[in-house]
Amino acid sequence: MKKILFVEDTKLFAGIVINKIKEKLAFEVKWLQTYSDTVKELNNNIDDYFIAILDYNLPDSYHGEIVDFVLSKNIPSVIFTSNIDDNLQDKLWNKGVVDYILKEKKANIDYLLFIIERIYNNIKTKALVVEDSDIFREFIKDLLLIHKYQVFTTNNGEEALDIINKNNDIKLVIVDQYMSNMDGLQLTSKIREKHGKEKMAVIGLSAQGNKILSAKFIKNGANDFIIKPFLREEFYCRINQNITMIEYIEKIENASNIDYLTSLYNRRFFFNSGKILLANAKRKHNSIITAMIDIDHFKKINDRYGHITGDVVLKVLAKILTDRFRESDIICRFGGEEFCILATDINKDDCIKIFEGLRKYVEKKEMIIENNKISITISIGICTELLDNLDEMVKKADDLLYKAKNNGRNKIMIF
Ligand code: GH3
Ligand code: MG
Ligand code: MG
Ligand code: MG
Repeated sequence: MKKILFVEDTKLFAGIVINKIKEKLAFEVKWLQTYSDTVKELNNNIDDYFIAILDYNLPDSYHGEIVDFVLSKNIPSVIFTSNIDDNLQDKLWNKGVVDYILKEKKANIDYLLFIIERIYNNIKTKALVVEDSDIFREFIKDLLLIHKYQVFTTNNGEEALDIINKNNDIKLVIVDQYMSNMDGLQLTSKIREKHGKEKMAVIGLSAQGNKILSAKFIKNGANDFIIKPFLREEFYCRINQNITMIEYIEKIENASNIDYLTSLYNRRFFFNSGKILLANAKRKHNSIITAMIDIDHFKKINDRYGHITGDVVLKVLAKILTDRFRESDIICRFGGEEFCILATDINKDDCIKIFEGLRKYVEKKEMIIENNKISITISIGICTELLDNLDEMVKKADDLLYKAKNNGRNKIMIF
């Protein structure tokens, strides 16, 4: 985890900011109070930092020398100042700062936290600029690089589609309207054929005085538009807003696929992704299996040790499954104390070895939870036959699990 460099000479204010960062974010903060200490620190440990928060006025830096120095080290910098006039604003933006923040308001510290997280996330966020004017394209690219995006550029729509095809994890596309061959509106529509608004933000660039174009961009599927010429501050606000919205949706989507207790996938994800794996396996004539795993007499664990300990047992088993299966397999908590695994490229002999190995491992494993030594056993039903659909394969595995239970539990049954 990379660190935040924070240079601020006022102790009280520094304390407030550091506490807030510690409370809300998982980053380490290095606090310094002078320009000269900052020079020393960065000359030794430059790679530690992904962002700097700099006080514009320091005892040994009255005219923003600290800003020039830290930016010369290529560290994205947010500037704290007590007052700012238009002159200083322009000066800071032209230097290439990430943002400036006024010290007065407490709410501004929340904004600072937002920017810190934004820059950290941007490091792994891809953006594409589609603009036929070389000067303007480079200008937008530089603005995005200051905010640490991974930036692709092109001067035409055809190449833009090609870049998107090869990088379908691009989250932001900035599209100029007037380009030869394909214009911005056409490109936006084309992008939308494959990439939804909630995954890829498209922002149209429209020229001043063409209000109807802004509306057209939105109607063609753009998330937003920016009117040229624009202020850097406005540009960043729009970009931040749109990218953050995409991340929120991504988070909600992830949460709806994950089981809250064990962090394994849930049943919903299992069926959605499993169907695709099954179709691929059929097409490529690869093997695929489903296994249903159920803890034996789990009710007794709850009755004896309590529900909370029962929860820990479920987590421990989830971890065992995650450690023992491949990343390409789908491991899910099917419900209660039932887990389901879908694994590909696995033959019947290996399958028996793997699940028999798992069964024995769980039987021997001693879990120490709240000073109690707890052991469990599991029963497993495995369907190794390629059936018509996933529901049938799961049903088959479940039937076999039922047989394993009837045969005395702590057993595997395979079809
Ligand atoms: P069998 O060997 O037949 O599977 O017996 P069992 O007791 O494991 O099965 P049964 O279906 O009768 O009971 C399942 C138990 O799992 C009852 C329920 O309280 C418990 N359980 C389900 N979900 C959770 C959970 O999230 N946390 C805890 N602690 N217990 C759970
Ligand atoms: Mg143009
Ligand atoms: Mg059970
Ligand atoms: Mg059960």
